[in-house]
Amino acid sequence: VKQVFTHENRLIVYNIKNLLEEQGIECVIKNEFAGGGVGDLAPFETWPELWVTEPKQYGQAEQIIQQTREIISGKPWVCPSCGESNESNFELCWSCGSFRDNEPAREFHST
Ligand SMILES: [Zn+2]
Repeated sequence: VKQVFTHENRLIVYNIKNLLEEQGIECVIKNEFAGGGVGDLAPFETWPELWVTEPKQYGQAEQIIQQTREIISGKPWVCPSCGESNESNFELCWSCGSFRDNEPAREFHST
């Protein structure tokens, strides 16, 4: 197994897991319950981690995550699914949980 992703936000780790599973990549979350009262550990040591179980799929998983990281470092963006605006460091829509995909960020539609 190999760790391919970790993030302080457990929901984001879960969403990455879902994304990988949609691509047929087997993966598991470790430290799943991190941050819930583990007193002595520094926060970064208790981030949930995403591990890929199948060695043949490491490359594919890393490719998907690399794309996600490029998205993270970008500008604030608008969800293509529901139109909510999201912070650049948030790779999933806070509102509907959709991944920011290949569509460029758009301005809000005026309603
Ligand atoms: Zn959305």
